[in-house]
Amino acid sequence: MKPLIIIYGSTGTGKSDLAVELATRYNGEIINADAMQMYNGLPIITNKLTTEEQRGIPHHLLGSIELHEDPWVVTQFKKEATRIISEIRGRGKLPIVVGGTSYYLDGLLLKGLVEDQPALEGGAHPEAMLAKLREVDPVIADKWHPNDARKIRTSLEIYFATGRRASDIYAEQRIKKESKWASKDTAQTHGLGEILLFWLYAQREVLNERLDQRVDKMVRSGLLGETAEVYDYLQQRLAAGETVDRSKGIWQSIGFRQFEPYLTAVKATPDAGPALAKLKEAGIEETKAATRQYAKYQVRWMTMKTIASLQEEKLLDRLYLLDSTDISRWKQEVLEKGVELARQFLADEQLPPPTDMSDTAREVLAGSVERSNREDTPCRKTCDICQKTLLTEELWQAHITSRKHAKAVRGAKKRMLIPAHAVPSRSLVAVEPEPSEQDSKQHQ
Ligand SMILES: [Zn+2]
Repeated sequence: MKPLIIIYGSTGTGKSDLAVELATRYNGEIINADAMQMYNGLPIITNKLTTEEQRGIPHHLLGSIELHEDPWVVTQFKKEATRIISEIRGRGKLPIVVGGTSYYLDGLLLKGLVEDQPALEGGAHPEAMLAKLREVDPVIADKWHPNDARKIRTSLEIYFATGRRASDIYAEQRIKKESKWASKDTAQTHGLGEILLFWLYAQREVLNERLDQRVDKMVRSGLLGETAEVYDYLQQRLAAGETVDRSKGIWQSIGFRQFEPYLTAVKATPDAGPALAKLKEAGIEETKAATRQYAKYQVRWMTMKTIASLQEEKLLDRLYLLDSTDISRWKQEVLEKGVELARQFLADEQLPPPTDMSDTAREVLAGSVERSNREDTPCRKTCDICQKTLLTEELWQAHITSRKHAKAVRGAKKRMLIPAHAVPSRSLVAVEPEPSEQDSKQHQ
């Protein structure tokens, strides 16, 4: 048996602590899968465990790249993590991967997902990409909205990286989907061995409160000093005439961006006391807001993307949600349950159904599965009034019943641009469409 434990979880749920606890008990080594913690230094901004908290457990890919370097793309992470996993096994030890960067974990775990490859970055014009995609994979090209550069790029990258059409891969996955909750022996087709997955989850309001307190604590332990360090480093590089791509990497880390106006003002007018205090306070508030936003994004990624993929790959019965909502019960709910599950897993015993772990586990897992089973009906309709193309029947219905569409229709009627009978409208009910899974990515 080649066991592997992977720990997913939002920021602030205690996943790094669980990883250390498991490693201590089961002779493990830890692989970091948090893009920001891969940067060297800045322990407060990136929220790294201290050496003391690591308790002598080897941590890989922690602080292994320099500040000016680009964050790793998924394929690079997958390659390195896979190599380290087999090295750890070579030492007779248990690899434990823990991370906040969900697409790293997905990339490592799931087949057929080749996202965020750098191959086409820089200069590839959306229209040119679409033209190329129409050539190599017309089926998928027709599915994507012409403006959805990201999906077009991903499909092209899948083609270039695997030599296979994304449409074929998706069709295959669809066929494989038949049985939803898999048996134990199907869960090792990934070359990664036997897998046990944890998802540390906390209810949003409670987690938000905790994250706010954590930001205050970070400020007390010297967040601003670190931020100033990054700021000076950036200024030096700019002064040396270097080009710095600030759209990614450490420059996008939460806790740096938000304090930049303050730091700039400190340099310019160090004596402007009250004005500076105001900017500092704003920086703290924005850091809190961004942290909450990021935690929300992590949960949405899990419920909308990871769970659907795990289901397709018949790994969903290996995903254990541990409820970290009540921090005073962390020991019972997260630590003890996690330790016992890992013990059963390593002893090759029968594991309980993930939905039996807690009420929260049942609600959240069942809800996510239900959502991902709700098949969208593909279609492609364009609303000429709003100049909007919708790709599923559900989104189309949501659009033509939306307040926005109704408003556009009224405007168009007023301008007498269109005869009333030509208007697609069921605009008595105003329903805005749900936001799509195309979230803004802010932490990569
Ligand atoms: Zn419309």
